Amino acid sequence: MTPTPLEPWIAAKTGCSPLTRGGLACWQLHRLRETVRRVREHSPFYRGRLKDCGVPIGGLPDIARLPFTTADDLRAGAQRFLCVSQSEIQRVVTLPTSGTTGAPKRLYFTAADLESTLEFFAAGMSAFTGPGDRVLILLPGEAPDSAGNLLARALARIGAAGIIHGPVRDASQTLSFMKEKAVTGVVGMPVQVLGLARSSSGRAIAVNSAVLTSDYVPNSLCRAVEEAWGCRAYHHYGMTETGLGGGVDCAARQGYHLREADLYIEIVDPETGAPVPDGRTGEIVFTTLIRTGMPLIRYRTGDMARMLPEPCPCGTILRCMEHVRGRIGRGVALANGSRLGLPDLDEALFAVDGLLNYRAEAVCGPAVCRLRLHASAVPGSRAEQSAALREALHNALPLQAAFLDGSLVLEPVSYCAPQQLDTGLDKRILASISAAAG
Ligand SMILES: [Zn+2]
Repeated sequence: MTPTPLEPWIAAKTGCSPLTRGGLACWQLHRLRETVRRVREHSPFYRGRLKDCGVPIGGLPDIARLPFTTADDLRAGAQRFLCVSQSEIQRVVTLPTSGTTGAPKRLYFTAADLESTLEFFAAGMSAFTGPGDRVLILLPGEAPDSAGNLLARALARIGAAGIIHGPVRDASQTLSFMKEKAVTGVVGMPVQVLGLARSSSGRAIAVNSAVLTSDYVPNSLCRAVEEAWGCRAYHHYGMTETGLGGGVDCAARQGYHLREADLYIEIVDPETGAPVPDGRTGEIVFTTLIRTGMPLIRYRTGDMARMLPEPCPCGTILRCMEHVRGRIGRGVALANGSRLGLPDLDEALFAVDGLLNYRAEAVCGPAVCRLRLHASAVPGSRAEQSAALREALHNALPLQAAFLDGSLVLEPVSYCAPQQLDTGLDKRILASISAAAG
């Protein structure tokens, strides 16, 4: 197996050839110091935030003495983060708020920032895409420098064709489009790709690879896509804050390799904020190392993952981060002391044949939590499918005890059209409704 193509890219970028952990750490330290110096000088937000942190950064572990940046900080006014004049900003991304309060988040990128993302997309995609491949892009791509547009330009650099389609609105139409364009690969949000894979039964669709891009992808969903298409599915981890791209699977598919020349990634205890050793699960926190427009210092993602302590079978010296396990603090406390979280539901439910998407509501009283599922599925027997969903949930290990002791009860499954459900897995929350009595 050849090492992830991110390795030669990072080697060239950092000037460390051959790339070693020591050489990369040296470069990261140099970039970290430079980033801290720049934000202190140019960003009104960090000038205030870092006012009392006079500590010189002697080594990379000293980063733990710097304060965190949160999504709320961004919502409170992203312009205060800017280190360049507005005229140097090439793209502004506005993220709608997912909670009940707060302003939207804005992220600002210069041409150089976008070029880094483009380079990462080209290097990362080359792990499983090459000249002659035709990749369907199910991300918004109409606007210049949007995610889909950058990805298409990145694919052109490695000799592949990026076919921008945008998000799926009608699976049948998209499947016809795929056939007409003879696509060999697909990149999209997990639920959208699953919808195509599960709706393609009987159609001659033969893709080699599917890249599921999100900050969280259930393993059962990934397997379902592979089974439906007989392809390999890869995870990509990223969010607008990381510069769209963050990390991507290599051929070994054990976890993501990260943009280590662009981002310094830490895993911290979500309660104490202290760094945790490799192998322990915690919150992903990143610091941008080469971002020019709007650098971020120790940004808390809210995503849970761990660094794998053992080397990746692909043989790279780069770190390997296990696939994200979901978001911190999401879920509902049950009367028996356990928690009901979306990732547990996802793993159980997406394994059920024919399921396209679902929404879960937990109506919780003091003793009993009643779980309501609104599902969308491919045409077929609703009675059979609903029984399969019930069985999958009752057999799911993390939920078994709560079903047995009666603290969790599943209500009859209702069905709805796919358009009525949110397709972004990462931004969903388990809707929790308080009941007067359990
Ligand atoms: Zn690898």
